[in-house]
Amino acid sequence: MNPVNPFINIDRERCTTPFDCKRCLRACPPAVFVVFGAKMVKGVELDKKAPGNYAIVPMYRDKCTACRKCIEVCPVDAITLTMPQEAPAP
Ligand code: SF4
Ligand code: SF4
Repeated sequence: MNPVNPFINIDRERCTTPFDCKRCLRACPPAVFVVFGAKMVKGVELDKKAPGNYAIVPMYRDKCTACRKCIEVCPVDAITLTMPQEAPAP
């Protein structure tokens, strides 16, 4: 992983219906995010407007360029980026 890739945190108290939103997912040029069912029930399609049924995760953080477009489009300010500390000199 590139040492300058930021850590991406999603506040799930704020982002409750990501499958219905997906704004960060659509805005992200390198497609860092994926949405998956948090309460999988085989053969049942979960209500995308019911809080907690889905979760969005920064699956491909190693592709993040820190452009912050996801932060700009999130309607509930659920995303924060943290730049990692530079590795100490050997
Ligand atoms: S900062 Fe840019 S590249 Fe990184 S996850 Fe957000 S939109 Fe994608
Ligand atoms: S833009 Fe914000 S509210 Fe919408 S799915 Fe992404 S993190 Fe959740």
